[in-house]
Amino acid sequence: MINIKKLTKRFGDHTVFSDLDLCINKGEIVAIIGPSGTGKSTFLRCLNYLDSADSGTITINDIDVNCQQPKKSEILALRRQTGFVFQNYALFNHLTAQQNISEGLRIVKGLDNQQAQQRALSILTDIGLADKARSYPAALSGGQQQRVGIGRAMALDAELLLLDEPTSALDPLWVNEVLNLIKQLAQQQQTMLIVTHELQFAREVADRVIFMADGQFVEQGPPQQIFNHPNDPRLKAFLTQIG
Ligand code: ATP
Ligand code: MG
Repeated sequence: MINIKKLTKRFGDHTVFSDLDLCINKGEIVAIIGPSGTGKSTFLRCLNYLDSADSGTITINDIDVNCQQPKKSEILALRRQTGFVFQNYALFNHLTAQQNISEGLRIVKGLDNQQAQQRALSILTDIGLADKARSYPAALSGGQQQRVGIGRAMALDAELLLLDEPTSALDPLWVNEVLNLIKQLAQQQQTMLIVTHELQFAREVADRVIFMADGQFVEQGPPQQIFNHPNDPRLKAFLTQIG
């Protein structure tokens, strides 16, 4: 189980969010939706320590990080438990698809090179890209690059996958293949927190949808409730605007 308590993040004197609480059950898929600039990416980044929160606690299984005084060992342990999928894939351009996946296995999981290459190939097979193992990112479509990005995050066997708008940089042609891979992970009970503008996808895949606005979790519930019976005026306005 993942438990986030009283998470607070400031950039200088701008408070992005304060005292945010969130509990995610094992296997649960939680989607965060909401207007631009509201703190969705920052929240996700704090959970992987790509950004550091100013205060609050993050608990994942037996890892317990006090964000006010985090220990380096706790941050590393947290990073091992949280795979991050970036909007713009963030692959290393000088590494092949296979190497992009095996690097993390060597560095984060401590596998030797041969084990890492084998495991990376097996993940590429799972995501339908075994024939692209030796291709560099420039020779892959956007959808294929993002599938490698997801494969790289999957390789860590992380307790929680964090996906920040995984399809929004994609040509519409490639969106479905990435959404299908995420659905496949959902079927395997991978716990996920996904920031997305794909409302139809959130409706189909998420167990719970959170509407975030002005740095707060304004409303949350099952997709059916959030999309068909919204309460908060900000959520109603958002759905009208985006839908
Ligand atoms: P979008 O839907 O456009 O991706 P978002 O909800 O993900 O928006 P964030 O990127 O989390 O929003 O940004 C939240 C706020 O924090 C914004 O006001 C943004 O300008 C600010 N912010 C984000 N990153 C930084 C940074 N590195 N330094 C200073 N301010 C930042
Ligand atoms: Mg964002």
